[in-house]
Amino acid sequence: MHKHIGKATLTRRNRGRPSVLVAGGAGFLGSHLCEALLDRGYRVVCLDNFYTGRASNVIELTRSAHFEIVEHDVVDPLPAGLPEFDEIYNLACPASPPHYQADPLKTAMTCAWGTMNLLERARKDGAKLFLASTSEVYGDPDIHPQPESYFGNVNMVGPRACYDEGKRFAETLCIDYGRAHGVPVKIVRIFNTYGPRMRADDGRVVSNFIVQAIKGEPITIYGRGDQTRSFCYVDDLIAGFLSMMETPESFTGPVNLGNPAEITVAHLARVVLALTGSESQVVYRVRPVDDPCRRRPDISLAGRMLGWEPETELLIGLENTIDYFRQTVERLDPLDRRAPQPAGSGMVA
Ligand code: NAD
Ligand code: UDP
Repeated sequence: MHKHIGKATLTRRNRGRPSVLVAGGAGFLGSHLCEALLDRGYRVVCLDNFYTGRASNVIELTRSAHFEIVEHDVVDPLPAGLPEFDEIYNLACPASPPHYQADPLKTAMTCAWGTMNLLERARKDGAKLFLASTSEVYGDPDIHPQPESYFGNVNMVGPRACYDEGKRFAETLCIDYGRAHGVPVKIVRIFNTYGPRMRADDGRVVSNFIVQAIKGEPITIYGRGDQTRSFCYVDDLIAGFLSMMETPESFTGPVNLGNPAEITVAHLARVVLALTGSESQVVYRVRPVDDPCRRRPDISLAGRMLGWEPETELLIGLENTIDYFRQTVERLDPLDRRAPQPAGSGMVA
């Protein structure tokens, strides 16, 4: 099957360069993944509908003759004219609550039909399929930290359900499709990841706080700020993706990928203020409905099966991210400058 030659892999089709499709490749994580795959000697096709992704995230990569961008929506069957793939990564789905809640039906269909279309393509090409699932499958967890064996506590009719249940269904599709058609599938559950190339208007907490601090605008804490998250730096996560893809075919996951260092949102605000030297005030807004109270990955399975653990300290990762936003925020379109707020957040909590 696959033979390793240096960093690249010689495929069974013996074309020299293995060929990979990254759906959602122009987004935050997808662009880092495309870059890592090109560095490893792959031919990379980045497929994206540019809903939250940006051409600027991957424009540098177009200098490579082995990189191609295809504008396409994964809800529709894949376009003709694509090469045969050895590997398919499914990252196509908005990840930030304001963006995935803006059109919930579209988010649910992206998870369902998008995953189905990519699975069918994987079967046709004899490719491996990777699914970017999420810690949101655990909902507002009763078990802490969350191991993969925990089935979760998701409100299936709440405003987050389009995404949480969409990803849960995408996992089911992958496992059942794999069993029925012998497609090798690899499922990772990603916990809150941050880093350069997040959008200033992404709406997630790390980018919101940094952009607000840099611009001297109020830091918006939703609720009292005592809810926790565990933040993983993007480079660590991408290393985990690549290790997952190299596990034996019988290992499908799901496997948690994230950094178990858990902090409160209020603590994150203090750290961002200190690192940016900002004098922004902190304001308290209404907590979004169904916002999980705490979240921390149990990463022992990733340690055992992938030999993976995150390496980047929060302070280092945040400094890199602050540098990125300092270089980009000044160049933003004025319409893109205000960090989005959750619905009904105009009031102080
Ligand atoms: P992102 O919003 O930056 O990237 C998503 C990409 O998918 C964008 O480029 C977007 O334009 C594209 N996309 C969305 N709908 C599409 C469609 N119908 N057809 C084609 N392309 C489409 O978010 P991200 O943080 O890079 O997340 C990437 C993936 O990882 C998502 O699937 C997300 O659910 C998952 N994930 C991310 C995190 C995180 O902390 N970053 C956590 C859990 C899961
Ligand atoms: N959050 C916040 N202020 C913001 C954005 C988010 O206090 O400007 C909170 C949010 O309510 C949640 C946590 O930060 O408790 C993480 O939110 P994010 O949207 O980044 O990710 P997710 O909720 O998907 O974990």
